[in-house]
Amino acid sequence: MKKTIEQVDVAGKVVLLRADFNVPIENGSIRDDRRIVETLPTIRSVLDRGGRLVILSHMGRPKYGYEAGLSLAPVAKRLGELLGAEVAFPSAGDCSQPIDVSLGALENGRAMLLENLRFHAGEKQGDGAFAGKLAALGDIYCNDAFGASHRADASMVAVPEAMAGKPRVCGLLVRSELAQFHAILDNPAAPFVAVLGGAKVSDKIPAIEHLIPKASAILIGGAMAYTFGAALGKRVGKSIVEQGRLKDAKRILDAAAASKCDLHLPVDHVCSTEFAKSSGDIEVFEDNIGDGFMGLDIGPATQSQYAKVIAGAKTIAWNGPMGVFEWPAFSVGTQQVAEAIAGATAGGAGSLIGGGDTASAANRFGIAERVTHISTGGGASLALLAGERLKAIDLLDEA
Ligand code: AMP
Repeated sequence: MKKTIEQVDVAGKVVLLRADFNVPIENGSIRDDRRIVETLPTIRSVLDRGGRLVILSHMGRPKYGYEAGLSLAPVAKRLGELLGAEVAFPSAGDCSQPIDVSLGALENGRAMLLENLRFHAGEKQGDGAFAGKLAALGDIYCNDAFGASHRADASMVAVPEAMAGKPRVCGLLVRSELAQFHAILDNPAAPFVAVLGGAKVSDKIPAIEHLIPKASAILIGGAMAYTFGAALGKRVGKSIVEQGRLKDAKRILDAAAASKCDLHLPVDHVCSTEFAKSSGDIEVFEDNIGDGFMGLDIGPATQSQYAKVIAGAKTIAWNGPMGVFEWPAFSVGTQQVAEAIAGATAGGAGSLIGGGDTASAANRFGIAERVTHISTGGGASLALLAGERLKAIDLLDEA
């Protein structure tokens, strides 16, 4: 168990809090403030005990230096509203120069948010000098950015490294995420079924390989099913195939065949002549897909097969939609899987959903409250499913 912010004395101390405030912003206003709200318990824990808070976050992927559209200014404003107290927000300064922050008159019980760390090249580069400047500000380091905890960015790794000897703890959101992952995945109740979909097979290869010896079944959907189809020599029409991953797909299929794990691929596909919401000709193909068509959802036979496997599971991990669920014509496969997972959870299974798209599918289909845990982290949850160690977490003190 990692030490948490609640287990350190923060009164009068400067807590350097790495949060994940990478919220969706449109025309200067925040479309969804969940990531801010989820960090409030950690923030309040510091401020209520008289700590001084310096909050760090990234936002989007700026190219070079300051970009007004990726400023954290709206976040500072919203956080101030939520806390009922102004949050100091110093300007980023000249981002081509080493970061230069002064805590000025930051009082006990008050918070400051620094500008988007990625305006400085040193953040993505994991630069030691950049990290040293940030580290020098804090008496305590706290990581509550679960969604960034698979990253090696300076604020995630080099900053806590530079603060060795000082308390380095996790925030309450990170603690709860880790506890859920451990509870569900450390000794998964059998049968353990993993459901993996989404657009890119390359992202999911490490997770599939790690899960083959652990899971009784892996259900594959989404565009990545077609890279597997192509590796088996099936006709996949103009579906998305990652040509560079055919060898990996073949290796995975061989590993699954030699194991006790049933790797399921779709047996039918809802296809369209166009990658579009409603303008193409839609047809269901079994096995081979016709020329000129692309697979955009798992078909009805696959849906019932997958629902049946899920119904028999005692542990379920789901990452990646079964089709282009954003468009109604190709949403049924993802909805059926979501319903099956909620049903199995009602019957006593533990269920874990990870990934931004998968979480929004769960919300859209109204099952968010009917599963054990929806993770706030996409890449981080996939890394944990792949059995990877998260360096940003490893660096934190044990309780
Ligand atoms: P990922 O980020 O890899 O989990 O992919 C999520 C995205 O994959 C969603 O936006 C889906 O619309 C998309 N997707 C799922 N299935 C397909 C498919 N068969 N063809 C193209 N895109 C897909």
